[in-house]
Amino acid sequence: MKIHEYQAKELLAAAGAAIPLGMVATTPQAAVAAFEHQGHKPVVLKAQVHAGGRGKGRFKDSGKDFGGVKYLTKREDVAAVAEVMFKYPLVTKQTGPEGQKVSKVLVQEAADIDREIYVGIVLDRGLGVPVLMACAEGGVEIEEVAARSPEKILKAMINPDTGLQPFQARRLAFELGFTGDQIGQAEKIMTALGRVFLDKDCTLAEINPLIVSKSQGDKPGAVLALDAKMTFDDNALFRHPDIEALRDLSEENPAEVRAGKAGLSFIQLSGNIGCLVNGAGLAMSTMDIIKYHGGEPANFLDVGGGANKDQVTEALRILLADPRVKAVLINIFGGIMKCDTIAAAVIAAFKEVQPKVPFVVRLEGTNVEQGRAMLKESGLNLTPATDLTDAAKKVVAAAG
Ligand code: GDP
Ligand code: MG
Repeated sequence: MKIHEYQAKELLAAAGAAIPLGMVATTPQAAVAAFEHQGHKPVVLKAQVHAGGRGKGRFKDSGKDFGGVKYLTKREDVAAVAEVMFKYPLVTKQTGPEGQKVSKVLVQEAADIDREIYVGIVLDRGLGVPVLMACAEGGVEIEEVAARSPEKILKAMINPDTGLQPFQARRLAFELGFTGDQIGQAEKIMTALGRVFLDKDCTLAEINPLIVSKSQGDKPGAVLALDAKMTFDDNALFRHPDIEALRDLSEENPAEVRAGKAGLSFIQLSGNIGCLVNGAGLAMSTMDIIKYHGGEPANFLDVGGGANKDQVTEALRILLADPRVKAVLINIFGGIMKCDTIAAAVIAAFKEVQPKVPFVVRLEGTNVEQGRAMLKESGLNLTPATDLTDAAKKVVAAAG
């Protein structure tokens, strides 16, 4: 599960990190009010979407050449830019071409930036522990820096029992070029990031950029977490009702949300062959074999080992609600559940949903003969397939 930038920064602040002042607005009027409330000081308007790369993004069909992060100093500009942000979807490298509708804008006091640094924690699957990565050249080009000069990425392994140790954070702060007072400030932010990552069961927690603001006169610049991103382990959400409360379903794929409610594992893809399969391994191989025969799956769908009629019906509804689906492959192995039970569920679901696209069905396993006979006798427009290859060829042909 992902959360918004402003929520991630609130979690960091609660753990002791310094963040800039800001207010969340849900209308252009509220954005202007926030600007006034913050004393007409320069602000950055930040479109809140779960996708990253907002700064380099663009608002689709708006004809404007700014992205989801915009520095502004005048009241009328705040009004005009907020208007665009709420009106057009934001397209970034991570949203896909349709973009993402913006329903919240963070009005944040602008920082005068001297330096941008990257710090992020991910689970290192090779080492089996969380690893804090840091880079003195942070900001919107971090992916390019990491690809071009991987030696510039500093790393510290985190012991999951004891967490990020102060000496590790201090060493990184030195290596990142912090001096004087700023070492302690940077250490505090990295420690907060480490604590949130472990306490809240994150799979990713990132600050990019962590900034040093410009010094003013003899007052040295402050260290702040300017942007933050967090992803949480869905399997651990039951331990964190406070995190689950931050969920914004409008940011998630509606078909996936609906499938999740029915206990189905569903991932939307961009092809035209709908797949209804039981078991994640079988679902993966079904997608592979469809692609092998020149087709494109419209989705990954695992109805689970013990799918009932209601789940199969809901799965069919979800598949057929996608106008791109031109044919469907039902691929079921009757193991825990018997083939005749599955056949009964498919027949009942068909009567209710009444699909208009061609269906290919491959059934195998316990009571397969009864299952096949039931499908045949039902008189429904289903093309039977004998094995996986036969099924894939037939459904690819049916989808055109
Ligand atoms: P992202 O593009 O979604 O990662 O959004 P960020 O919040 O990281 O902003 C992108 C870039 O905009 C940053 O790397 C900064 O260069 C710039 N930026 C963001 N906030 C400020 C600010 O307060 N002042 C200035 N001068 N630049 C900012
Ligand atoms: Mg960023």
